[in-house]
Amino acid sequence: VKIAVPAETDPNEGRVAITPDTVKRFKALGADVTVQAGAGTTSRLPDEAYTEEGATIAKDAKATVAEADIILRVRRPSDADMKSYPKGALLVASMDPYGNEKSVEAMAKAGLTGVAMEFMPRITRAQVMDILSSQANLAGYQAVIDAAEVYDRAMPMMMTAAGTVPAAKVFVMGAGVAGLQAIATARRLGAVVSATDVRPASKEQVESLGAKFIAVENEEFKQAETSGGYAKEMSDDYKKQQAELVASHIAKQDIVITTALIPGRPAPRLVTKDMINAMKPGSVLVDLAVERGGNVEGAKAGDVVEAGPAKVVGYLNVPGRIAATASLLFAKNLYSFVETLIDKENKALAINWDDELVQATVLTRDGAVVHPNFAPKSD
Ligand code: NAD
Repeated sequence: VKIAVPAETDPNEGRVAITPDTVKRFKALGADVTVQAGAGTTSRLPDEAYTEEGATIAKDAKATVAEADIILRVRRPSDADMKSYPKGALLVASMDPYGNEKSVEAMAKAGLTGVAMEFMPRITRAQVMDILSSQANLAGYQAVIDAAEVYDRAMPMMMTAAGTVPAAKVFVMGAGVAGLQAIATARRLGAVVSATDVRPASKEQVESLGAKFIAVENEEFKQAETSGGYAKEMSDDYKKQQAELVASHIAKQDIVITTALIPGRPAPRLVTKDMINAMKPGSVLVDLAVERGGNVEGAKAGDVVEAGPAKVVGYLNVPGRIAATASLLFAKNLYSFVETLIDKENKALAINWDDELVQATVLTRDGAVVHPNFAPKSD
């Protein structure tokens, strides 16, 4: 099997889809690995680190992908890049297919078998392959670091001869993977932390991290979780009650970190301009959902903006802000999936099309869009 890793082409992408560790693992499966020169630089992985584990370095993207069976990327390549890849190759990446249906078609036209890693089912066997979790965890950590950088005050309580500094109050909205790591990180920095979520199961997790749980806990709340463990869209009545509770709570906070998402839908609007205007001068909001429409009114993708008394942080690709760590986990996620597609005996690509992981993630195959969410409807 020939595995190829061209460099990422988005200037904001510092991550890389393979590490020296996963090169070693792929080599142990009998694969050949080619990495484009410089692909790991922004993740602090020089070419020599790859060659030491047995990878070949190719000078450009074209030479990298020549005759590749499997191509690994962090992001979906441009339509032109996909066209230049060998027909029939397996392309494994985070594909961001919603709203990019034309590119999914281009992937099919290019004859690639495209695997969208973000569609990996959340079952025990696939936990090691879950890029959403590995990257959201780091985004939650980084959100607190970004908040601390913009915040003009100290986070922990400090009792000094010159007086006592109060601890910052941090409120985390959405207690999924990112939110829970944000809670833990803010606690480590000494903040007084509270959090909210619409999934009842999150209450215990929030409390076990030493944070206070804030939510309208009525009947609807108790039912609000899908079988996949994701959040449901809440009723207008629930949203109104929750907004009132949250508004009075936010007015007392120094830092608000929002992470709320609902799969396949725009991010729910949780913080309005009025709520921000009721905050203290120097407050900070970090919106981790900004790429999906934003939880915070006025958040600007890729920017830090002044909003009344507060600053709203809306950085893009937050896991990419700690690229060196993010790449370690991302590459391991990809390896763990691809490993299941390689026959250990004859060292060849052997995809079991009936495997539920394959069925859930394959977007395109044999020139067609095959994923149920994107394939042309037959009626
Ligand atoms: P996510 O990124 O889809 O959403 C982030 C959080 O926002 C979720 O907790 C969601 O409930 C919350 N949210 C949505 N709307 C909200 C609103 N209006 N107000 C407040 N909060 C709102 O979620 P995620 O981090 O991917 O995790 C979702 C669930 O899946 C969690 O229970 C997590 O533990 C679970 N999970 C399971 C596995 C596995 O079993 N392999 C892996 C990862 C995550």
